Amino acid sequence: MDLKELIKIDPVIADLAEAKEVCWLNPKKIPFAEAKDKLVFGPADIEEASARLQRFAPLLAKIFPETAEQGGIIESPLTEIPAMKALLKEKYGADLGTGRLFLKRDSDLAVAGSVKARGGFHDVLKHTEDLALEAGIFSSREDDPMKLLQPEAIAFFKKHKVQVASTGNLGVSIGMMSAHLGYQAIVHMSADAKQWKKDYLRAHGVTVIEYAGDYGKAITEGRAISDADPDSYFVDDENSKELFMGYAVAAERLQKQLADEGVTVDEAHPLFVTIPCGVGGAPGGVAFGLKQIYGDNVHVLFAEPVQACCMVLGMATGLHNQICVQDIGLSGKTHADGLAVGRASSLVGKIMEPLLTGEVTLEDYKIYDYMRDLRDTEGLFIEPSSCAGFEGPVQFIKNAAFAPYIEKYGLSEALQNASHIVWATGGKLVPEEVRQAFYNTHL
Ligand SMILES: *Cc1c(COP(=O)(O)O)cnc(C)c1O
Repeated sequence: MDLKELIKIDPVIADLAEAKEVCWLNPKKIPFAEAKDKLVFGPADIEEASARLQRFAPLLAKIFPETAEQGGIIESPLTEIPAMKALLKEKYGADLGTGRLFLKRDSDLAVAGSVKARGGFHDVLKHTEDLALEAGIFSSREDDPMKLLQPEAIAFFKKHKVQVASTGNLGVSIGMMSAHLGYQAIVHMSADAKQWKKDYLRAHGVTVIEYAGDYGKAITEGRAISDADPDSYFVDDENSKELFMGYAVAAERLQKQLADEGVTVDEAHPLFVTIPCGVGGAPGGVAFGLKQIYGDNVHVLFAEPVQACCMVLGMATGLHNQICVQDIGLSGKTHADGLAVGRASSLVGKIMEPLLTGEVTLEDYKIYDYMRDLRDTEGLFIEPSSCAGFEGPVQFIKNAAFAPYIEKYGLSEALQNASHIVWATGGKLVPEEVRQAFYNTHL
């Protein structure tokens, strides 16, 4: 399909193709009560993932001592950021009024240092459970995960490989978990991946294979290499249900944290959540989980770089993974390395169709500005990709493009009682000198 025909499907494509920033409202969103029966997954799938993470927690506490204090449950803080809220008003003209602004700090998740800890760890643990059952190490799925530390189990997993393709953070998550469970871990890294992530993985015994091209090339070649090996498992970032469900578990954990903060979520007290989006798995999983809990009272936005806006392109055209950003003349290149994806997941885009509020896209310079803003106001560091989320509340409040949505859902009064969450997706492992270099980057 050429550009003209695509623009007929949704005029937003014209702006996307010119790398303009857009605020896009999803025309296919429907009431959750109608949406929920059409979804291919449901609450039971999330419960299964949640129970698995719970079962394996004692093992994680053992193999990752930094998680021992939390009993091997890897969770991040929810932090209110009132000084950043004040700055959004002063500097960006986005007045959240009496609403509250929070940062969900998956940037501080243990071991992986990013949102990928949730999905990535769950995927590897599910595969491990499958293998252990097959090999007779486990007698049932509910068997004691500590059995994986027995010498016979370790010898068994040494013969098996786990592979993944990544722009960086997924590789860190999958690589760390599989190497510590005793697998041969292999990560296929795209050109955008940061050097320190490769160094970090190699220091933990992970094999890193580098590709000159983008993420698309790393995933095609990585998958082919893994598929040719009967003892290898490929973590499929574009289609994995287990990744998706691991991400979705975030929602029930957040629910507790919001309650602890005294936050009510109901019709009069809506919740707005903005999540940076790459291939879609992480933000899609989180959004799916949140919808199951809060239904129509949660409004989820994704944020993408103007040059790597694959999810909004896939959703607006309805073509999902059948179109990539290069097809409309974009480069796919962005400073937001965690979001440098040209083709969205088909699994996720379709699930999001009835659920997602919309999307914002933003220029790269903004992620560095928001990063400095957050440091200066709250003393917190999150990586540049992560900062894309701030564009959500800013545009939602300021941009007239969202007025029809606010009207349609009768939100104008409720906005004063709203809570806004910016999902911080990565940062903890970024070395100090790299942080300094980020702070000094002005585009
Ligand atoms: C991976 C990643 C995302 C987005 O996750 P996808 O599953 O690729 O959509 C966002 N932020 C950071 C820092 C990431 O590493």
